Amino acid sequence: MLNYQKIESALIHGGINGDERTGAVNVPIYQTSTYAQDSLGHHRGYEYSRTGNPTREALEALIAELEGGKAGFAFASGMAATTAVLSLFHTGDKIIISSNVYGGTFRVLDKVFKNFGITYGIEDTTDLASLDGKITPEVKAIFVESPANPLMTITDLRGIAELARKHKIYSIVDNTFMTPYLQRPIELGIDIVLHSATKYLGGHSDLIAGLAVVKSEELAKRLAFIQNATGGILQPFDSFLLIRGIKTLSVRMDRHVENAVAAAHFLQQHEAVKQVYYPGLPESQGYGINKKQAKNGGAMISFELNPEYKKEKLFSSLKLISLAESLGGVESLVCHPASMTHASIPYEIRQKVGITDGLIRLSVGIEHRDDLLRDLDAAFAASKEV
Ligand code: PLP
Repeated sequence: MLNYQKIESALIHGGINGDERTGAVNVPIYQTSTYAQDSLGHHRGYEYSRTGNPTREALEALIAELEGGKAGFAFASGMAATTAVLSLFHTGDKIIISSNVYGGTFRVLDKVFKNFGITYGIEDTTDLASLDGKITPEVKAIFVESPANPLMTITDLRGIAELARKHKIYSIVDNTFMTPYLQRPIELGIDIVLHSATKYLGGHSDLIAGLAVVKSEELAKRLAFIQNATGGILQPFDSFLLIRGIKTLSVRMDRHVENAVAAAHFLQQHEAVKQVYYPGLPESQGYGINKKQAKNGGAMISFELNPEYKKEKLFSSLKLISLAESLGGVESLVCHPASMTHASIPYEIRQKVGITDGLIRLSVGIEHRDDLLRDLDAAFAASKEV
C-alpha cells in the first residue's frame, strides 16, 4: 500500500527507495560489475551488472511506477532504448512511424533495421481513418511522438492505441517531450513508452540515458531478455543521476511550461515571427486532443522566421539562450532542426513534412522569463536585414 497518491510524491518516493542497511535516504551507487555468490548455484539475486544492478533497478522500478507500466528498463541512451524496443521485431515486419519522429529514430530504422529486413512506412498519424487503411498484415507496430518533433504535431494517443488493438499490433510512444508528469501513454492504452531521459527526466544536461516502459508481462519478459542480450544498459552512476533528476521533475516542469506559455505569446505577436508551433496555444493543431491526453502543452516551441530576419544572425546574437542540440535541461536552448536534430532525414522528406530551413526550435528553460524574452527580443532586433 503506497502512502501517497499524487505523481509529485511518486517522483520523490516511487520505485525502490533509500537503503535498508544504513537508512540512507538515497539509493546507493552500486558501482560493481559482479557479485560474489554464496555457493555454486546460490546468489543473492544479482550475478552480473549487465543483467541486474540495484541502482539501475531502483530507477527502472521508478519509471515503471511513474508511467503506470509493468516494468521499466534503463539504457545508455534514448537511442539504445529505441534500438532495444525495435529489436522486438523480425525480418518481414514493418513499423509505421509518424512523419515527424526524431531524426535518430528515422535513421536507425532506415540505416540499421532495414538491413535486417525490418521496414518502415512514414504516415500522417494525426489522420486515424487514413492510417487504418495503411495497416497491412506485415505492419506490426505504430511508433509515434506526441507532440512530434519539431512541429509539435499532436496525435490522438487513445486513437492510436485503439487502432493497434484492433489490428493486434503494438503501439509505441516516444514520451520524451512530455514526461510522465504531463502525459502517461500507458494509461491511454499504449503498449510501450520510450524516453530520451537525457532530456527533461535528467533535466540538467549532464547525462545521456534512455528508458523504456512496457504495459504487459509478455513484453516485460521479452525486453528484459533483449536488454541483457544486447547489453546497452545504463551505468550505476548515471542511474543515480537520473533518479536525482526525476525527484525535481514536477517543479522544473511547472516552471518550464509557465515560461513556454509566456514565450509562445511573445513570439506570436513579434513581427520577426511568421508562425508559432506550440500545443499550448488554443489555435494550434490538435489543441483539443492534447488537452484530453496531456496536462498541458509542454515547453517545446518551434517557430518560423519572417524572411527579413536571418537565422544565422539570430543564433549568434542570443546571449542567454545557447545554440545547441538537445532539450529539456534547466537552461534554454535553440536549434535549427533542418541542419541539426533532423539533418539525417533526406531533404525531400523534410520539405514534405514541413521541416523548412526557416524553422527554429526553442527548448524553454527555467530561467526568469523576463530575461528569456529580453534575450529573444534583442536577438530579433539584431537579426533584421536592413
Ligand atoms: N527521442 C527524442 C524525441 C529525442 O529528442 C531524442 C534525442 O534528441 C531521442 C529520442 C534520442 O535520445 P538520446 O539522444 O538520449 O539517444
